[in-house]
Amino acid sequence: MAEILRAVKGMNDIFPASVPRKATDVLPTSNMWQWFEETSRSVLQRYGYQSLITPIVEPTALFVRGIGEVTDIVEKEMYSFADSMNGDKLTLRPEHTAGIVRAMIEHNALYNGPLRLWSMGPVFRHEKPQKGRYRQFNQLDVEALGFAGPDVDAEQILLTRTLLRELGLKEGTHVRLEINSLGQPGERAAHRAALVGYFETHAALLDEDSKRRLLTNPLRILDSKNPAMQAMIDAAPKLMDFLGAETMAHFDAVRAVLDAVGLDYRINTRLVRGLDYYNLTVFEWITDQLGSQGTVCGGGRYDGLIQQLGGKPAPAVGWGLGIERLLLLLEAVGIAPPDQAPDAYAVIGSDAARVPAMVVAEALRAQGVSVLLHAQGPEGLASVKSQFKKANASGARFALVFAGAELARGAVGLKSLRGAEAEQVERPLADVAAWAAELRNA
Ligand code: ATP
Ligand code: MG
Repeated sequence: MAEILRAVKGMNDIFPASVPRKATDVLPTSNMWQWFEETSRSVLQRYGYQSLITPIVEPTALFVRGIGEVTDIVEKEMYSFADSMNGDKLTLRPEHTAGIVRAMIEHNALYNGPLRLWSMGPVFRHEKPQKGRYRQFNQLDVEALGFAGPDVDAEQILLTRTLLRELGLKEGTHVRLEINSLGQPGERAAHRAALVGYFETHAALLDEDSKRRLLTNPLRILDSKNPAMQAMIDAAPKLMDFLGAETMAHFDAVRAVLDAVGLDYRINTRLVRGLDYYNLTVFEWITDQLGSQGTVCGGGRYDGLIQQLGGKPAPAVGWGLGIERLLLLLEAVGIAPPDQAPDAYAVIGSDAARVPAMVVAEALRAQGVSVLLHAQGPEGLASVKSQFKKANASGARFALVFAGAELARGAVGLKSLRGAEAEQVERPLADVAAWAAELRNA
């Protein structure tokens, strides 16, 4: 036999719940995934956000300029390569925002006014794979471009709450919201200077990674998980103390909306986010159920990015949600997707029954009924008994029996597969529309 090829490390196959897979894998099911996508689309539509689809591959320079040279992503997590045909430097996108902003600039898309957009799809980061952390993972990404006020910041946080709620997650129990303000560049520069001074006076306590960051990106020292540095980090100068009246007014206006709708949050002054481009509002939804992979969704304002990437200055705010991580959370707290089983399973009694069965199945599907047809395997048509076993295993609520006697009478047998053993009844083949409704899932 030919050698078996395997998926690239950290990149996953997402299976339906009904299909067996390696027992060692802890991954969400595609049933959960489909439910998430449908729920997201419905929520996004209600908030007036439109879909934008951008390429998975972008010029490397886009991310170096957009995300920042001294971030974890650009320093060590990007899948970059030279195009083997022409040598162009390309990168598999590690996030959606930079590509969306590039598209806005390239097409002058903000010319007619601000936009509310979303994207969904795979992103790539070369990290150590573990539960909830992969090398190819998927994000739902939502951006509002061209809006400056705190209203749209609040709107986006409310959108995330609605989405999490409609998936069955409870605030306070399963997820909690943290917010912060990162201020404006001037305020951050003043804080940064104070921070560098503070870390220099405590240089003896810094680990190697932090010493390097002191020169490149001192704010990232605040992200350090090194327990030996925690007390020193806790006492470091706080950005909040450097924020001016305008910044605080923006922050307070966001909070006023959250307070008015009764959305609980915690102000976490240590919340800085992994990417360089954020200013003013930042937020994260956090869970305790997934170990150190605790952030399911995060984002904030990035008013400088569009100009930084060569566009006409325009404010923006957005967030990204890790789909695999969120789905693992749903499973961890016992939330199941709605039943996706077919309405009916078509049992085919003989070769002669196949054509009439497929004609009726088409008519039913046109009426919105989902029909799973028994198709023959390598050994031909299975026995009716074994087809009924498959029908039960499929979760269908009804079996439709296409067999000689019924067909001769111009009828199909209909048998309920749920609850107590039911009698088989008959329905006319000629007038499918008259009885399709009784099969449809209410
Ligand atoms: P983390 O601190 O966990 O590395 P991050 O700050 O790098 O997260 P973002 O860039 O904000 O993450 O991406 C948005 C969301 O994508 C995260 O909140 C998380 O849910 C998810 N995410 C990030 N990295 C991964 C990964 N390697 N695998 C799966 N999901 C991820
Ligand atoms: Mg990360």
